[in-house]
Amino acid sequence: MSRLLSLIIPVYNEEGSLPALYKKIMQNLQELIAVGSISAYEIWFVSDGSTDKSEQIIKKFAAKDPAVKLICFRRNFGKSRALQAGFRRAAGDIVITLDADLQDDPDEFKNFINKIDAGYDLVSGWKYNRYDPLEKKIPSKLFNFVTSRFSGLPLHDFNCGFKTYRKEVVKSINIYGEFHRYIPIFALRNGFKVAEIPVKHHKRETGKSKFGAERYLRGLFDALSAIFLLKYWDRPMYFFGKIGLTLFIAGFLICSYLSLLWFGGESIGGRPLLILGILFILVGLQSILLGLIANIIVDRTARHNDDIYIREIIAKEA
Ligand code: UDP
Ligand code: MG
Repeated sequence: MSRLLSLIIPVYNEEGSLPALYKKIMQNLQELIAVGSISAYEIWFVSDGSTDKSEQIIKKFAAKDPAVKLICFRRNFGKSRALQAGFRRAAGDIVITLDADLQDDPDEFKNFINKIDAGYDLVSGWKYNRYDPLEKKIPSKLFNFVTSRFSGLPLHDFNCGFKTYRKEVVKSINIYGEFHRYIPIFALRNGFKVAEIPVKHHKRETGKSKFGAERYLRGLFDALSAIFLLKYWDRPMYFFGKIGLTLFIAGFLICSYLSLLWFGGESIGGRPLLILGILFILVGLQSILLGLIANIIVDRTARHNDDIYIREIIAKEA
């Protein structure tokens, strides 16, 4: 079978691990070629504004092997942008992303590919034995619990950088900010079949983690956006309209009630309920109008390629 495998590796100051990583990767790629699982490979390193020797080291790999490719960002743009740069250029039928710090083990390549061959479009790694500090593991557990509950996608480890994709999935993804944590959700939204496999995880032996505590606050906002985009991406009015209509009706009922009292001769000018009723009506109307504007934006931007929705087309020439 002729099949190209692309690796995408985001690199932000990882000079300490690159030589060993490259060696380990090459061993595994050679094995995959030997057993006929793939016929060729390419390795996209994306240097996300590295200021150490990472880029020089990768250039040396590339000088020896034309299948090694390097994208250098002008400054640090974050892991999502780095992955996206690779996604856009990767030509492989199968694409594997992994971190550059050797915490992900290239020995898992074959297991990922087997799972893809079992009929899945996206296979996500699950670091079931995770070698990270506790202050990282606990928030991560919480994040995974909440995300899987709200999205309805039962994964243990959304954020694992070690994932394998069929080409179609990669071409459907558009991530920025911190959205790399939600790739499985976006894939699910587009109708792809998502699975998870347990993967070996190692301690970071060189360099340091690039993500600090502020990731969690950003993560909260991203979680809100991701879940919103999962459910309402093409119909934001369903979301804003529901809230808006509920508030509007509540406000309308309150004000009708007060009007009745007023017609009965009671004074209502000093009642807090009046303010509440008016507030509900105004906010409700605003929310509905916001929904309309959001729908206009979707309508304007949603004229993209429908290829990402289609698994198969049968259209024989007559
Ligand atoms: N990384 C990146 N840009 C960033 C932060 C991280 O390209 O702004 C890369 C980093 O070099 C590594 C991977 O993303 O290859 C995962 O980062 P890290 O190991 O620091 O994350 P952790 O394992 O601590 O979650
Ligand atoms: Mg790491």
